[in-house]
This record gives sequence, C-alpha cells and structure tokens, in this order.
Amino acid sequence: MYWEKEETLPRKELEELQLKRLKWVVRHVYDNVPFYREALKQRNVHPDDIKKLEDISKLPFTTKEDLRANYPFGLFAVSLDKVVRIHTSSGTSGKPKVVGYTASDIERWANMVARCLYMVGVRKGDIFQNISNYAFFTGGLGFHMGAEKLGAVTIPAGVGNTERQVQCMVDFGTTVIHSTPSYALHLKEVAEEMGVIDKIKLKMGCFGAEPWSENTRKRLEDAFGIKAYDSYGLSEMNGPGVAFECQEQEGLHIWIDHYFVEVVDPKTGERLSDGEKGELVLTTLTKEAMPLLRYRTGDVTFLIDDECSCGRTHPKIHRIIGRTDDMIIVRGINVFPSQIEHVLMRIPEVGDNFQVVITRKGSLDELKVRVELKDELFTGELSDLERIVQKIQKELQKELNLRAEVELVEKGTIERSTGKAKRVLDLRGEL
Ligand code: ADP
Ligand code: ZN
Repeated sequence: MYWEKEETLPRKELEELQLKRLKWVVRHVYDNVPFYREALKQRNVHPDDIKKLEDISKLPFTTKEDLRANYPFGLFAVSLDKVVRIHTSSGTSGKPKVVGYTASDIERWANMVARCLYMVGVRKGDIFQNISNYAFFTGGLGFHMGAEKLGAVTIPAGVGNTERQVQCMVDFGTTVIHSTPSYALHLKEVAEEMGVIDKIKLKMGCFGAEPWSENTRKRLEDAFGIKAYDSYGLSEMNGPGVAFECQEQEGLHIWIDHYFVEVVDPKTGERLSDGEKGELVLTTLTKEAMPLLRYRTGDVTFLIDDECSCGRTHPKIHRIIGRTDDMIIVRGINVFPSQIEHVLMRIPEVGDNFQVVITRKGSLDELKVRVELKDELFTGELSDLERIVQKIQKELQKELNLRAEVELVEKGTIERSTGKAKRVLDLRGEL
C-alpha cells in the first residue's frame, strides 16, 4: 500500500523523529557552515538549546538573498569531495540558486519522489514520460530517478519538440506524464491539431513547478481522460518530492520526516495557525550537503492538518496560491495570477492561454488580461466578441473584486513555454 513505512507513522513518532533530526541539522550547520555559526551566535543560540520542536522558533530564517550572497558553494556543509551533484533553480525570480547533494542526499531524494509517484498509483510497468528540463533544473533528474526507482519504464523526454512528444505518447503507449501544467495544456492543443488525442492512453499526469488552478485541473483531466496530480518542490529542498497530492486530491501531503514545516506571516515572520494563509517556511531535516534552516520559500499556502482517508499521517498544504513576489497589487487589491487563471479556465469560450499585463496610467495601476479564444467558439461576430469580453470582465469582477480590461486575441498569439509559463508582464517600471 505504501512505498515507505514513514508515510503512516503515528504523529508522535514522526515528531520524535523530527526532533532528533532537528537537533542533528542544527549541530551540523553550526559545526560546518560559517554563515550559520555566525547567525546562531548573533541570536545567542547554541545547538544544545534545541530541546523540543518549539525551539525551532529560536533559529534564524534563511532567505533567497542569503543563498545569493553565498553563491555558489558558501552554504555547503560538506567538502566538495563529498558532493556528487549540483543543480540550480530555474531563476524565475533572479539569479539561479545553486544546490549540492551528497550520494545519500540523492538516495533520499529519489526515494521521496518514488514515494510521491507510488502514492498516486504509478507502478512497475507504467510508461512514464518525463517532459521536463534536465539541464541544471531539478525537475528532470528528480522525477527521472524517482520513476526509475519504483520500476516504471522511464523516458527522459526533456522539453520542446511538442509534436515529437505527442507522437512518443502515442507510439510508446505512455501511461503517465510529468510536465508543467501550462505545457500540458499545450501538449493537449498540439495533440488535438494532430488528430491523435484519442490515441493517447494516459492514465494520469503529475504537474507542478508553477501555480495552477482547480479549473485547469478539470480541463486537463477532461482533455486527456486522466487524473491530474499537483506536485510541489523547490531546488533548495532537493527539488520535486517535497509535497504531492494523494489520490484524494484535497491538498498535498508534505513529508515532515524530511522537512520541518511552518507557515508564517510574510511581513512579521510570526508563525500562523493551520488554515491561515501565509508564507511556507521549510527546514531540511536530512540534507547533508546543503542543509537550510527556516528557509523562506516565498510560496503562499496554508496548512491542512486533518486526518486523510488515504491513511498517511503527514499533514497537507493547500495548493500553492502564488509566490509572495508574484502577487500583483492593483489599486490596493492583492491578486495572484492563479486566481485569474481559476476564473478564466471555467469560462468555456476561453482558450488555455492568457497573459496579465500591468501598466500605470498616471498614478493608477491598470490591469489588462489578454485572453485567447477557443477556435471552435470563435464566430468572428463582433457582437459575440463583445458579449464574451463582458462575461469575462463580470466574472473577474465578481471573484476578485477588480475591474480589468479584457483583450481577446487569436489562438496562438500568446507565447507557449516548455517550462514555467510567464503569465505576468509588469510594465510599470518601464513606463
Ligand atoms: P525558481 O522557479 O524559484 O527559480 P525552482 O526551479 O527550484 O526555482 O522552482 C521552485 C518554485 O516553483 C517553488 O518555490 C514554487 O514557487 C514553484 N512551484 C513548484 N511547484 C509548484 C506547484 N505545484 N504549484 C505552484 N508553484 C510551484
Ligand atoms: Zn492523503
């Protein structure tokens, strides 16, 4: 039923394990990373002061800036002769961050990804097409190792050449794909154009690396006749395999035997309770090469700590709502692109691609949403187009309390991305 016994450990045992590992990691960074030794000394904290899990609040936060300031290897806690792999982040918000792994880090990471894939039902004999970048990025090799570990037939498909990807899905009888959700929508579009969507035998898709919405899930599930699961991870925490949906599809189990999880108020750093939306903060409990204490992920979510009917005892996080640095503030209203996506993807006339453009007129921010229409619903009649614009505007207004200008564009106008989609064009600085 489960890949590893740790998935169903009683919470008390999990917490004992966490405490043991927390003590280990604080000692490890204190002894081996000058940056942390200094930061702990400044706060007057010694590894021996960690006596219970609550003591985590004594530890300093680590930020993305700290990673950049210590570029490339400054936060490594082992010498380079123990490091067997280096990856970098995608660089979505600035200079890529560098992360390192020991051989046993790699082993644990592969197991965590295998754990996630097993959870959603990937098994030996499944044909797993890994449509993910293998260069520098953790998504490619991370999923690759996990899928191979559990014995799936693993195809290192990489990204790009969409027609070939689709052909491969048809010819090899691919049963599982992994990609970004935005690229999966593009695969669907191309498979339809090639007239082969019905020949695809997919059972499920694992989608992650960027925010996506429940309505996008519905679109992907309907188009391919699959179950679509949300996969969350970040390079700083190994990569994929940090949190993953189970078959209940109600939140992502986050593996607390490897990560200590907090959600904090992004402004004050105060810890929030379950259900309160804030920034996810993670402490690595088992990483040797590059352990991080209380890392500010910049990702916005909340904790769901109900008993899950799948039997796993690890808490869940709500799907990532967005990044703190992705939040758009328009005329005082906070909006995440994923909320706009959620509204658009439930409107049948709207195609799978959109872009948000923010400009400034005088001192006022203007929000424009460029939306591709579905071909089949495109009559070309002006009155129809006007009706659709009004409908989109009304739905956005209702859900987000925000008036947006809506521009309809033809299918294919908005650039497709093979990895993370760039949804927001902020032109405010340039005007
Ligand atoms: P970056 O994109 O910051 O350069 P990574 O390539 O390591 O770094 O990607 C990790 C980031 O991608 C996460 O911090 C998060 O913002 C985003 N991400 C990953 N998985 C998901 C997901 N399932 N939903 C939303 N966002 C995600
Ligand atoms: Zn579950």
